Amino acid sequence: MAGHGSSTKLALLGGTPVRDKAWPQWPARGAEEERALIAALRDGDWGGFPLPNERAAAFAAAFAERHDCEHALCVANGTVSLEVALQAMGVEPGAEVIVPAYTFEATASAALFAGCVPVFADIDPETWCLDVESAAALVTERTQAIVPVHLAMTVADLDAIGSLAGKHGLAVLEDCAHAHGARWRGRGVGSWGDAGSFSFQTSKLMTAGEGGIVTTSDDAILDRLHALVNCGRQRPEAAQHAAVVGHNYRLTDLQAAILEVQLARLDHQHDTRAANARRLQAAIEDIDGLTNLRIDDRVTTQAIYQFVFRFDGDAFAGIDRDVFVAALEAEGVPADGRFYESLPVSELLRPDPTRYPTWSAALAAAPAADCPNAERAAYRESVWLPHQFLLGTAAEVDDIVAAVLKVQHSAGDLAGLEGVEVDRLRQARSAR
Ligand SMILES: *Cc1c(COP(=O)(O)O)cnc(C)c1O
Repeated sequence: MAGHGSSTKLALLGGTPVRDKAWPQWPARGAEEERALIAALRDGDWGGFPLPNERAAAFAAAFAERHDCEHALCVANGTVSLEVALQAMGVEPGAEVIVPAYTFEATASAALFAGCVPVFADIDPETWCLDVESAAALVTERTQAIVPVHLAMTVADLDAIGSLAGKHGLAVLEDCAHAHGARWRGRGVGSWGDAGSFSFQTSKLMTAGEGGIVTTSDDAILDRLHALVNCGRQRPEAAQHAAVVGHNYRLTDLQAAILEVQLARLDHQHDTRAANARRLQAAIEDIDGLTNLRIDDRVTTQAIYQFVFRFDGDAFAGIDRDVFVAALEAEGVPADGRFYESLPVSELLRPDPTRYPTWSAALAAAPAADCPNAERAAYRESVWLPHQFLLGTAAEVDDIVAAVLKVQHSAGDLAGLEGVEVDRLRQARSAR
């Protein structure tokens, strides 16, 4: 284990860090990506037009099959995928769309882009995915859709969400931006709702730098998706003419070439991450003040976009989460604390008529729930570790654990530190 023999003086206070080695790089890439990209480059057929182009069509078919869906359509990114999926599902402008309070902004902003009103439900205190009871209490006659997010390393309760949606006739859009390849009761995410949305942005489990995809098994949704992402042009096989003013949200075939290779790597990477995650979870179970997220037994294939655990400062001399994360980073484990905000109280999505005249009126008029679980997660408890930390060996995991234990051992030395002082110490370290 690295760090043995080093003193217990925290790196944030000038001591020797537990780890100074680089972490496994992301995106993982190799000769296969190079070959695929060069082949696409040489044949000169680079665009997303005609839609779908050959490589994007082949990739989408493989991606749909891997997620137990009939169809998939590649799009420019994982934000517009949510926007067009809502529209293609028939969710109307002005409709209320229930989203979890604890997620990336795009889950909510995509509803705004589609002319809808995002309504924030709290998260489950143990899984940090959408709390279905909180969502149920927010349903009104204007509610048309619900957008569960499969957060970080788990899957939202798709059974309970399916029953709630069935009861009220709501459309379900799964935000699978973190969950490529995950399965719930043996079936792919993105196949449980009316549609699923995935992102291929740089940090995600499969990437072409940017990109997104919508999965569905509904032909009518696919027809409308085609028109929405291809400037209103009809899908050649479309049963009905979808008269829409569409964007150009197409993905290039250069990106599709890389994504075909990334899909082939996915399952092996899942296995590596899962094995390392089990080791890390077991260590966390034994550390006072840290708690693992609860992973439902119905998650039969786990996708780990970020390894997330819960922090309780009482077992760390009362320091707050942000100080803990700064100390971990100084030890060579660059974790993130405030990875996401609680959106209803975030600066971005709090109603503010001076910034967003139309959206603010909508946000202010929407039914609101208190979201204490989302706030506790966002501002006090969450610690996020990027998935590539788990693409190495057990030694990488042991470094994470060693760094956490070292910070715990000497947390008293950080007690009472204010944010400004932590920033100053961070800067002093990086200047050394
Ligand atoms: C990344 C992400 C998105 C948006 O994807 P982009 O490709 O970055 O636009 C949407 N939802 C969640 C939960 C995400 O993490």
